[in-house]
Amino acid sequence: MTDVSPKIEACSPHVMNTYGRLPIALSHGQGCRVWDVNGTCYLDALGGIAVNTLGHNHPKLVPALQDQISKIIHSCNYYHIPNQEVLAKKLVELSGMTNVFFCSTGLEANEAALKLARKFGHDKGIDRPEIVVYEKAFHGRSIATLSATGNPKIQAGFGPLVEGFIRVPINNIDSLKQATEGNPNVVAVFFEAIQGEGGVNPMHLDYLRELRVLCNERDWLMMVDEVQCGMGRTGKWFAHQWAGIVPDVMPLAKGLGSGVPVGAVVAGPKAAHIFQPGNHGTTFGGNPLAMRAGVETIRIMEEDGLLENAARVGTHLSQGLAQALTAELASSAVREIRGLGLMIGIDLAKPCGALVQQCADNGLLISVTADTVIRLVPPLIMTETEADEVISILCPLIRQLLQAP
Ligand SMILES: *Cc1c(COP(=O)(O)O)cnc(C)c1O
Repeated sequence: MTDVSPKIEACSPHVMNTYGRLPIALSHGQGCRVWDVNGTCYLDALGGIAVNTLGHNHPKLVPALQDQISKIIHSCNYYHIPNQEVLAKKLVELSGMTNVFFCSTGLEANEAALKLARKFGHDKGIDRPEIVVYEKAFHGRSIATLSATGNPKIQAGFGPLVEGFIRVPINNIDSLKQATEGNPNVVAVFFEAIQGEGGVNPMHLDYLRELRVLCNERDWLMMVDEVQCGMGRTGKWFAHQWAGIVPDVMPLAKGLGSGVPVGAVVAGPKAAHIFQPGNHGTTFGGNPLAMRAGVETIRIMEEDGLLENAARVGTHLSQGLAQALTAELASSAVREIRGLGLMIGIDLAKPCGALVQQCADNGLLISVTADTVIRLVPPLIMTETEADEVISILCPLIRQLLQAP
């Protein structure tokens, strides 16, 4: 097999300048390890931003995808695609919801959720539906999803924003009640069960339960963006399941296809029949390759016990980090280690973007989000030994950064 990709250049003259990139080009991987084009090996604690559920070159996933590619990659939604039904049935079982729409990315799944909420309102005579969203939320980069996002940096330069959002702080039911009091136009509450880009901020389980009750009382759709925290990452299939609740709408993407782009909106009875033929669609969504990737990802996760692994290795990693950083936690130089399973945020008392390159120089891939939060979202196949390795590379670099003037 010949790889025709050229060597990387210091700056890319033709690709749009939308990311501050590290000077690294990954060439291949195996499990939780990846190698760059120069042959340097890295331990992958980022998983392509919570995407590579099964790590790299998984021995069960790769042959299944090769088989699918050799049969048919894309047909189109004018025809039945049998694995759509298989994957939908599986997602319905795992979520306790009823119907699924397939797309290709997280923002598309969220865009569909927002359309569902608006039509839910219109169908009951609300002409100007409004949706509750949260501070520090991240829902994507399309005009509607960046409007729902709670980050002024992401919105700057793209006004006018889409209207019809009411913004509240997380974990405060009184603020939510106040902000919506006497407003007959509210149709939905839209949130991440654990905010990802906003700094790994979990919604409290009590808050989620109170929210479920409120949504029932007021006939609002409860819409949980599980694009990042879903698909087994926290040790349950979906992070909201820790609260024992079932939402009405649940966008998914990232980890669902283990690297192949797959998005989905799962809906419960209140939202499952809002879209009628002609209301929504996509060319790529639900294509045979994507569906095979989704079906096989879930099958392999079940076979290999990856929910249990995410919970166990996640606990091991969090506890190990807390132990290695005991002094820094005591002095509040490390403000908090939070998250659930293999979605972990280490919140420092100072900006830590520089750690991304420093970790890479020491053979570890991580990310930093919300300026001060180290985010670990590794493949769900990570072992305790690999978790120990993350700790032994990362913690000395954290200490060094904290001690620097
Ligand atoms: C990444 C992410 C999105 C956007 O997904 P894309 O596939 O990049 O469009 C939306 N919501 C959450 C919670 C995310 O983490």
